[in-house]
Amino acid sequence: MSTKLERSSQYRIRQHWLAFFVALALLGSIVTYNLVTIRQRAISQEHQRLMTQVRVIGQNIERQLESTNLALKGVVADLPGLQGAPNLVQANKRLSVLADAMPGVRTLFFTDATGTILASNRPELIGRNIATRQYFSEPKQHPTPDTLYISPPFRSVLNAYVFNITKILSGPDGRFNGIVTVGVDPDYFAVILQSTLYAPDMWNTINHGDGIRFMTMPYREGQTGKNLAVPGSLFTRHKESGKPENIFTGTAYATGKYRLAALLTVQPKELQVDKPLVLIISRDPDAILSDWQNEAIFQGLLFLVACIASAAGLALLHRRQDLFEQKAQRAEAMVQIRYELLEYATMHTADELLQYALDEVCRISASPVGFYHFVDPDQQTLTLQAWSTRTLQEFCKAEGHGMHYGVDQAGVWAECIQTRAPAIHNDYAGLPNKKGLPPGHAPVIRELVVPVIRDERIVAVLGVGNKQINYTTRDAEEVAYLADVTWEIIDGRRAQQELKRANELLATEARIDYLTGIYNRRMFDGLMTAEIARSYRYNSLLSLIMMDIDHFKQVNDNLGHAAGDHVLQKIAELISGRIRGHDIFSRWGGEEFVIMAPKNDRFKAAELAEILREVIEQFDFGNGLRITLSFGVTQYCYGEQSEEFVARADAALYQAKHKGRNRVEIAAPPVVLSQNCVTEEFVRLPQLEVSS
Ligand code: GH3
Ligand code: MG
Ligand code: MG
Repeated sequence: MSTKLERSSQYRIRQHWLAFFVALALLGSIVTYNLVTIRQRAISQEHQRLMTQVRVIGQNIERQLESTNLALKGVVADLPGLQGAPNLVQANKRLSVLADAMPGVRTLFFTDATGTILASNRPELIGRNIATRQYFSEPKQHPTPDTLYISPPFRSVLNAYVFNITKILSGPDGRFNGIVTVGVDPDYFAVILQSTLYAPDMWNTINHGDGIRFMTMPYREGQTGKNLAVPGSLFTRHKESGKPENIFTGTAYATGKYRLAALLTVQPKELQVDKPLVLIISRDPDAILSDWQNEAIFQGLLFLVACIASAAGLALLHRRQDLFEQKAQRAEAMVQIRYELLEYATMHTADELLQYALDEVCRISASPVGFYHFVDPDQQTLTLQAWSTRTLQEFCKAEGHGMHYGVDQAGVWAECIQTRAPAIHNDYAGLPNKKGLPPGHAPVIRELVVPVIRDERIVAVLGVGNKQINYTTRDAEEVAYLADVTWEIIDGRRAQQELKRANELLATEARIDYLTGIYNRRMFDGLMTAEIARSYRYNSLLSLIMMDIDHFKQVNDNLGHAAGDHVLQKIAELISGRIRGHDIFSRWGGEEFVIMAPKNDRFKAAELAEILREVIEQFDFGNGLRITLSFGVTQYCYGEQSEEFVARADAALYQAKHKGRNRVEIAAPPVVLSQNCVTEEFVRLPQLEVSS
C-alpha cells in the first residue's frame, strides 16, 4: 500500500514540475516578447528622431544656400555699375552691406577673369589673385551662369576649414569674366549642428558631395578634411543607394566606430548646384539601447529570481507534503500497532504483552535493545518489567524480571525521570566500553528513554538503545506513544482484575451473612429450591433442621449486643465444624439457623441435631457463659411447596421450645400424602413398584 502511495505521490510531483516548467516557459516567452518589442520600438523611435534632426539641419542649410544664391545673383545683376576703379568704394560698400545682412557669410568678393579680386567686403583682400583656388578654377573650367558652385572644404588663410559658394560672371559676349563668391562662416554651421544634438553620444557632420568632411559636432580631432568617398563607407553606401536620405547601421569610416546613422543629401530643387552637401548624423547603438539593456537585465534578473524562488517554493512544498505523508503513514503504523497490542493482550499474560510491545517498539525505532521499567509512586525505585527479545542476544544478560534499583543508580533513566521528558543520548559511541561488560556483549552506543506520565507522576519508563543512526525527536515521540499505549493496556487489565475482585466480593456479600460468614437467607432460599427440585427429580431424601437460641434476649440484655454477636459467630463456627460436606448451613434470620441435609431422612437429621445440641451445650462461650439451642427437624414430602416444608420444621422447633428448650423435636410428613411422600420405605422399593 505504501509503494502505491509513493508511486502516486511521485507521479503528482512529476506533474507539478511539468506544470511549473510550462508556466516558466510561458512567462519567459512573454518576458522575451515584451523585451524584443520594446527594443524594436526604441530602435524605430531613434530612426525617426535621427531622420527628423537631419532634415531640420538640411532645411536650414537649404535656406542658407537659397539666400546665398539670391545675394550672389543680386551682385551679378548690379555688376555693370560696380565695376571699374571709380566705383570701387561703392562696390566694397555694397558687398559689405550684403555680407553683413547674410547669416553665415565671412567673405564676399568678385574677381576679374584672371582671378584678381576686384572688390570685397574685406578691403585687405582686394588685388589678391585666387586663380589657383579650386573655387575659381572649377567654375572657370565649366562656366555655367545658372550654377551655384559649392567648393570642397579647404584650409583658409586664417587656418580654418571653410568652403566657398560661387557664381560666374559673364562678359557681354558671354565669355567667362570672373567669379563672385562667398566664403562661408564655420561658426554659423557649428551653431546649426550644435543646436540639434540631443544625446552625448551623437555626432552631427556636414560633408561635401565629393566626400570631404567639412565639420563634425561635437568637435573631433582629425575629422575635418577627411575623404569619406571610399568603398564600403556609410557615405559611399548612401551615394550608391541613389536615395536622398538613408538610415544605416554600420562602421563609420571616419571614426571606425559602429554607429546608427541618418544620411541626407542637401540639394535644393530650385537651385542648380554643382555638388551637393551630405549631412551625416549618428548615434552609438549601444547608448540608444542602454535603457533597454537595463530594463532587459532587470526583467531577466526578476525572471531568474522568480524561477529560483518558485522552484524553491515548489521543492519546499513537496518536501512538506512528503513529511506530512510520512507522518501520516507513521501515525497509521502507530494505530495499527496499538490495535495489534490490544488484540495480543486478550490472549496473553501481562508479561507476554510487555515483551511483545517492547519487540514492536524496538522494531519501529530500529533498536536492538529495549527495556520497560515501572516506577514506584514515590519516584524512588525502578522495577524491571520486560526486555526485548534481542536485548539478551545482542546486548547483555538482563538481571531479571522484577529487579528493583534506585533511581539514583539509573543514569539516563534517572535523567528522564528528573526532567520528566524523553532523554536522548547519541554521544556514547566515542566513550570507552563500560567496565564489567561480559565478553561478546556490545556496550550502549546510543540510548533513548521516555517516561509514561499519569496524574503528573511517572509510572513507567521505556528505553531503547543502539540504533545504527542517531535517535531523533520523532523516535522519541513514537516510542513514548507506544510506551503509553502499553501502559494503558496493562493498567486497563489491572483495573479489570480489580473490578473482577470487587464483583466477586459483591457476589460474596450477596450470598454470605456478614456477621457469621455462613450462607444468608437469600442464598439458602435459592439452594433449597435447587435441592427440592433435585429431590423431586431423583426421588431422593431431603431433611431440614431449624434451630433457635434459647433465651438469647437475656444474653443481649445482660452482656450487651456485641457479646450477643460474638455468641452468634461462635455458634456458626461450632456448627460449621460439625456438619458434613453436602449439608447446607445458613443463618435463617436473627438468632435462628437452618441446616438442609440431603440424602438424609428425618431420623438421621435428628441424630445430627442431637450431636450439635450437645456440642453447643458443652461449649464455654467465655466467663462460664452457657448457651443452648432448640431444634425442629422434618423431612421433605414429595410434591410439597418449600413453604410447607419450612413451616413443618418451624412447628417442630416450636414444639422443642414448648417442651422446655435445649432439645430436638421431629415432625413427620403428613400421612395422607404418603403415596407421594418420599419415605425410607419408598426409597428402598424399586422405582417400578412405586409407580404401580
Ligand atoms: P426464646 O427464643 O428461648 O423463646 O427466647 P429468646 O430470648 O431467644 O426470644 P426470641 O427468640 O424472641 O428473641 C430473639 C432475640 O434475639 C431478640 C434480639 O434482640 C436478638 N437478636 C436477634 N438478632 C440478633 C443479632 O444479630 N445480634 C444480637 N446480638 N442479638 C440478636
Ligand atoms: Mg427467635
Ligand atoms: Mg430464641
